[in-house]
Amino acid sequence: MFIRYKNDGKGRSVPVAKIYTQKEHPITNSQIDKDALWAIRKIQQAGGEAYIVGGAIRDMMLSRKPKDFDIATSLSPRQVQRLFWNARIIGRRFRIVHLFFSGKIIEVTTFRSDEENFEDGRNNLYGTIEQDARRRDFSINSLYYNPSNGQILDFNDAMADFRKKVIRSLIPLSYTFSEDPVRMIRALKYQATTGFSLKHDVKKAIKKNAEHIQSCSTSRLTEEISKILASGSSYQILMNLRKYGLLQFILPCWSMYAGIDAVRESLEGLDSRINEAKKDGEPVAKEEQLYAFIKPLLVIDPEMAPEELFHEAFRQAKVLISPMTPPNYELEKAVDMVLRDLGIKRNRGRRSAEARALRKKPNTLGRKSAANEELSSVPQKKRKKKKKGSKRERVALPEQAKTLAEEHDL
Ligand code: ATP
Ligand code: MG
Repeated sequence: MFIRYKNDGKGRSVPVAKIYTQKEHPITNSQIDKDALWAIRKIQQAGGEAYIVGGAIRDMMLSRKPKDFDIATSLSPRQVQRLFWNARIIGRRFRIVHLFFSGKIIEVTTFRSDEENFEDGRNNLYGTIEQDARRRDFSINSLYYNPSNGQILDFNDAMADFRKKVIRSLIPLSYTFSEDPVRMIRALKYQATTGFSLKHDVKKAIKKNAEHIQSCSTSRLTEEISKILASGSSYQILMNLRKYGLLQFILPCWSMYAGIDAVRESLEGLDSRINEAKKDGEPVAKEEQLYAFIKPLLVIDPEMAPEELFHEAFRQAKVLISPMTPPNYELEKAVDMVLRDLGIKRNRGRRSAEARALRKKPNTLGRKSAANEELSSVPQKKRKKKKKGSKRERVALPEQAKTLAEEHDL
């Protein structure tokens, strides 16, 4: 391990980061997605700094397979976009770049400043790597890995927290959870998924700020719940949220029943299926996750006709999980699975949300579709004239892309 110093402007050298060499940590390039390595190499060849950051490093430090790879860079979103034909800039204020590959998106984020002036809007949005490291939520999410030399940069003594198995907030607790209440959910999620403990002051701050979660957008909460159901520790995380007084605000209806045995059994069953599936590399479908979430709580009257029964069960499911809004076709499939357990099979009408979604869905995220998206930005003049009154067609972003964009636009 060696230390990175920087000049403090008064002629003195001050330490800013610990640098761990390849031999001093467990991460190797063979664990990293090939496209992410390719993207990093391309940015570095263009003269930029680029690192794998965040959850992927956290997972690999714990010898787990990351579910996705995020990149942090010194290049601006425009500079990144110019390097990649499959890039798309998203986000309202803090703009990030999505690189589209077949079946996945790699997110490239420019180092973010910690000097943002919220009143002035765009002031100092982008910053240095040190500032970026200070803005991250928890120390275990703040390591930077450079695949070209195998070094890990640690600006926050995060390695020590991995050794001590603790979750420590980097942003002062006096405002981190009121600034972004989703961080409370994230803290409780990591407590369950890593097995690390939350520092006492973090626990106290969550209890104190629980009510702030009500100010979060439905789309961000939906995204978090969806990640929780897919985590393999859903039961423990949801119980953590309950214990800290957050669940009643996040899922007001579902939380009323969270304590019953059937809920525990169903979610523990889901968690073990997901953990088994992770070993085989086979993902558990979203509808199956929702099925486990709603199944114990639907009240079914088998006297009803199948189609009527479906509508009633679907309505109940919507209320149960509100204000969470997963795609209707996933919820429909989940309800169908519950009915199938009871031996009830309905005729899928042509007007089901699934059918509608299939018609509306953009192409898969393959190279072809990224190319299509590039083509879709051809100036308006060259397009065929639309019928009078018809709205200009827009290429729909996948659900994940939309919510991630919002997530980074605090
Ligand atoms: P997971 O996807 O399992 O929730 P993750 O850590 O990869 O874990 P992302 O939402 O992909 O989570 O975020 C990537 C990184 O961005 C995080 O590891 C963290 O460093 C930073 N980050 C994400 N959300 C926030 C936030 N609300 N506040 C501060 N930093 C954040
Ligand atoms: Mg991530």
